[in-house]
Amino acid sequence: MKPARFDYHQVRTAAEAVSVLAQSGGEAKVLAGGQSLVPAMNFRLARPEVLVDINRVAELDRLTDEGEILRVGSMVRHAAFERPVDDGPLGRLLSMAARHVGHLPIRIRGTFGGSLAHADPAAEWCVIARLLDAEMVAAGPGGDRRIPASEFFHTVFTTALEPDELLIEARLPKPSPSAKVGFKQFSRRAGDFALTMAAAVVEVRGGEIAEARIALGGVSDRPVRAPGAEEMLRGRPLPPSSSSSSSSYTAFADAAEHASGEVETIGDIHGSARYRRDLIRVLTRRALEQAAAQ
Ligand SMILES: Cc1cc2nc3c(=O)[nH]c(=O)nc-3n(C[C@H](O)[C@H](O)[C@H](O)COP(=O)(O)OP(=O)(O)OC[C@H]3O[C@@H](n4cnc5c(N)ncnc54)[C@H](O)[C@@H]3O)c2cc1C
Repeated sequence: MKPARFDYHQVRTAAEAVSVLAQSGGEAKVLAGGQSLVPAMNFRLARPEVLVDINRVAELDRLTDEGEILRVGSMVRHAAFERPVDDGPLGRLLSMAARHVGHLPIRIRGTFGGSLAHADPAAEWCVIARLLDAEMVAAGPGGDRRIPASEFFHTVFTTALEPDELLIEARLPKPSPSAKVGFKQFSRRAGDFALTMAAAVVEVRGGEIAEARIALGGVSDRPVRAPGAEEMLRGRPLPPSSSSSSSSYTAFADAAEHASGEVETIGDIHGSARYRRDLIRVLTRRALEQAAAQ
């Protein structure tokens, strides 16, 4: 299949991209890595009249470490995270997730910002953004605005971005240097979108869990947190350090059981809602065990 006709603009700056978007009356689409947009155009599921190609906008292809925040430019490719971009737990978490994003050619072309803007509920970066309470920075004709992850993802393929807004970057708060992280997902074949994924950050103080974060993907119309399960873990001691003891640690199993009940799961041709609840239970426990074993 070939796409419907469109006008093509290659821009060199974010400001130029915003200006073309503003002039296009809501009929333009941003072209980032093209790994989701181009197939959709070829199938004519998307028919933008104007494409704004941001692949040559160098200012968007940057990682900026601000100490407590890692700023990820929207054009940073998935593959950039395969090796840790940071010495701490954030670098470990991003590289655990990166290797699950599609196949190598997709990771080389596809972008962090494209994934967030596309908002597939089973996309790894959407789940990580929700896990960390990231902030998305959007530029529009009226200037920049920051959107917290809890408000950014509206439903499948729909975000808080307006048609004339460009996603500039995601601001990822770093877990503390001693935090432990885990990421587990299940897909039918390597490289497929996950049926379900679970990501966890466990902050430990004085041998106790001071704060736990759990985010789930592929289970609902957007990435979600499991606040009840997170609360159950607060104040619990960490399991003994050997991984075999952590797998029989009941606090993790109880929290995972709770997570599988507190999220409204969806069913589709790939798996029923009940199957996804089972996956949440298993993957949440494994992600917590993986974190505790660090
Ligand atoms: C076979 C296959 C398997 C895949 N498996 C996975 C997987 O397992 N996990 C996963 O997460 N993804 C997967 N993907 C999708 C891939 O990660 C895409 O790269 C990603 O969804 C979109 O990023 P992109 O840079 O290619 O964006 P594009 O395809 O260029 O754009 C996607 C959408 O986002 C909009 N957009 C892009 N950038 C911006 C911006 N800066 N501001 C505003 N809007 C913007 C576009 O207009 C478009 O609507 C897979 C894709 C394929 C083809």
